[in-house]
Amino acid sequence: MKSLDDALNVLLGTLSAPRGTESLPLGQALGRILVRDITSPMDVPSYDNSQMDGYAGRAVEMNNALEPLTVSQRIAAGHPGGPLDPGTVARIFTGAPVPEGADAVVMQEQVAVLDDGRIRLTAPVAPGQNIRPRAGDLAVGRVILPAGRRLAPADLGLCASVGMGMLDVRPRVRVAVFSSGDELRQPGQSLGVGQIYDSNRPMIIALARSLGAEVTDMGCLPDRLDVTRDGLAGAAGAADVILTCGGVSVGEEDHIKAAIRSLGSLDLWRIAIKPGKPFACGRIGEALFMGMPGNPVAAWVTFALLVRPAILAVAGASIPSPRAWRVPAAFDWPRPDLRLEFLRGWIDDQGCAQIHSRQNSAVLSSVTDSEGLIEVLPSTPVSRGEFVRFIPYTALS
Ligand code: AMP
Ligand code: MG
Repeated sequence: MKSLDDALNVLLGTLSAPRGTESLPLGQALGRILVRDITSPMDVPSYDNSQMDGYAGRAVEMNNALEPLTVSQRIAAGHPGGPLDPGTVARIFTGAPVPEGADAVVMQEQVAVLDDGRIRLTAPVAPGQNIRPRAGDLAVGRVILPAGRRLAPADLGLCASVGMGMLDVRPRVRVAVFSSGDELRQPGQSLGVGQIYDSNRPMIIALARSLGAEVTDMGCLPDRLDVTRDGLAGAAGAADVILTCGGVSVGEEDHIKAAIRSLGSLDLWRIAIKPGKPFACGRIGEALFMGMPGNPVAAWVTFALLVRPAILAVAGASIPSPRAWRVPAAFDWPRPDLRLEFLRGWIDDQGCAQIHSRQNSAVLSSVTDSEGLIEVLPSTPVSRGEFVRFIPYTALS
């Protein structure tokens, strides 16, 4: 058996560098992968500005004033004022440029406005107070987003904040998805004896789409070698990645392995994880092939742990290990497997890891009813209160 880390390293090691660049407007770049580092072409903010609605002035004058202060100008956001007359203050609003000569802003709640319009301060002022300084967020030349970044909504906001309207991103990865098995029927069809619905294919298609891939639904392959081979061969020309589920264990009705071998190359792995032991990977022409096990939870877990990083790597994304938390177990797991186990569970109100009551790899509701994977190390029983690693599903999306 192969460890998960070894399997992942071998899988990622077979991939060639991502190719191609597209230039996209910000509005179309969500989820795309940055080709190169983005450096800020400007300071943000690009001028000192007020953090409050209030009055801008010189701190020393405001603190030492014997008489009420005259309000000599009014500066609203988007409407810069002129240099500040000595001994006066400017009425100023949030986001407006601090006038030349002012070094502090007093919030309006700390000011008494007299009948004649002049003001008196009700609290002392410190220089720099309530001013957002130029370059306080980003300085010109700073790398604001790294190459390989999968663009998130706030990233697009950050690019806009430095005036960038177009981004160079990687082309979408083309993924072809098959399910396989004579027992599978499609939602909307009626079920005969011994038949089940094909739950994996819509799930895998959605998982791949949520990574930003351009996914083609290739349908369900019957348990026949010739049809399986033709289907896979047909997908190879137009896909960067071909995914199947089912048909990779030792059963003799499993034809995926033989089909891939006849079309290209195949490695069949037994990975030391539970669920998800059987996993196939190989090549058909230029396309990367990955075959997930048929049990729905095993398919989900192998997608999360192996297929996801591989698709992201093909896309040119940097792939940090999923963020995990060490939390105390709220459960006992006295009979651990020889393999690394991924239990489905969640963090309770006390910050402890709870597990779903049904951990069978065919029980897909154990995924939908939970919020993350809890690791149980090989041959290592867990007792309540011991620390376990919890990987939230959000870290696998
Ligand atoms: P296999 O690896 O083909 O032997 O399948 C293992 C188990 O997963 C069997 O119980 C299959 O019926 C089930 N299975 C395979 N593919 C799917 C699928 N697309 N949706 C739901 N269950 C599946
Ligand atoms: Mg099958």
